[in-house]
Amino acid sequence: MKVLANDGISKSGAETLKNAGFEVIIKKVAQEQLKDYLNQNAISVLLVRSATSVRKDIIDNCIHLKVIGRGGVGMDNIDVAYARSKGIAVINTPAASSSSVAELVFAHLFGGVRKLHDANRNMPLEGDSRFKDLKKAYAGGIELRGKTLGIIGFGRIGREVAKIALGVGMKVIASDKNIGEVEITLEFYNDQSIKIPIKTEPIDMLIKDSDYITLHVPAQDSPVIGAKEIAKMKDGVGIINTARGGVLDEEALLEGIESGKISFAALDTYENEPTPAIRLLMNESISLSPHIGASTNEAQERIGVELAEQIISILKKTKA
Ligand code: NAD
Repeated sequence: MKVLANDGISKSGAETLKNAGFEVIIKKVAQEQLKDYLNQNAISVLLVRSATSVRKDIIDNCIHLKVIGRGGVGMDNIDVAYARSKGIAVINTPAASSSSVAELVFAHLFGGVRKLHDANRNMPLEGDSRFKDLKKAYAGGIELRGKTLGIIGFGRIGREVAKIALGVGMKVIASDKNIGEVEITLEFYNDQSIKIPIKTEPIDMLIKDSDYITLHVPAQDSPVIGAKEIAKMKDGVGIINTARGGVLDEEALLEGIESGKISFAALDTYENEPTPAIRLLMNESISLSPHIGASTNEAQERIGVELAEQIISILKKTKA
C-alpha cells in the first residue's frame, strides 16, 4: 500500500511504515493536482500537516483513499466528519507537539519581557553606532517570577504551559469551557515529581487578574479575546497567541498596543496565513514566528512515529 506524505514525515515515521511493508512517497503535490495524483498512484494513505487541505472533492473522488492522517492537532484543513461518513479513517497526533508549543510560548514570553524581539531587529542596524541609546531603550525589563500567567484553554498545551510557568515561579490562572480542576504533575530529571492542583476560573477573572495571557483553544467562530476583553485587562498586559489565527482579534490587538494598554504581544498564528497583515509584521511590540509551534525535531519525530503506528494498526485491522 502507498502512503503520500504531502507535507513531509519524520525519518523514523517513514522507517516504521516501510518496515511494515508500506511504500512511502515524500513529495509535495500542489493542492490542485492532488486529486489526480492520488488516483493515478493508487494512494491509500494521505498524510498532511496544516499546508494541505483535504476537502469533499478529494474525499469523494479518490477511490483508493483509506486513511487521512494529520501530523499535529487542529484538523480544520480536513473535512473530518464527511470523510468518516464515507468510511475513511481520519487520524491525528494530538499530544505529540504539546511541550514544543509550550516551550515556544515561553521563548516569546521571556523575549517579550526583555524586548528581545525588538533588540534583535535593531542591534544589527545600530548596535555599533548607538549602543548606549539601545541599552537605554531596552532597559526596564521585567522578571516573570512572581507574575501571573492566564492560560485560556486548559487542554494538552495549556497544561504543558502551566508546568513551565510553575517551574519559573509564576502564579497560574486557567480558564476552560469544559474543564474544572486539573492536577498538574511537574516531573524533574531525577525522577522526582510534584503534583499541583489547579482549579479553572471564569474567563472574566482571568482577564482581570493576569499579567500575561496565553491562548490555547481550538479554532473558534469568533475571537475569544477582542476589544471588550482587552479593555478589562491589566495595564501593560502581554498577550500570546500560538493557538489559531482568529482566536485573538488582530485589529483589537493593534489598537491595544497603540493605546499602551498592551505592552507586548507574541504571535505564532495569524488570521491571514500564509500572508499575515503587514501592520502586525511591522509592529515593534510584537514578537513574531511563522507558525512553528510544533516544529521541533522531537515533536516531528513523535508525530511521524505516532502516525505510522496508527496507520499500521488501522490497516492491519481492515485486512484482518
Ligand atoms: P486541546 O483540545 O487539548 O485543548 C483545548 C482546550 O480548549 C479544551 O480543554 C477545550 O475545552 C478548551 N476550549 C475550547 N473552546 C474554548 C473557549 N472558547 N474558551 C475556553 N476554553 C475553550 O487542544 P491542544 O492540543 O491543547 O491545542 C490547543 C490549540 O493549539 C489548538 O488551537 C491547536 O490548533 C493549537 N496548536 C498550535 C500549534 C502551533 O504550531 N502553533 C501546534 C499544535 C497545536
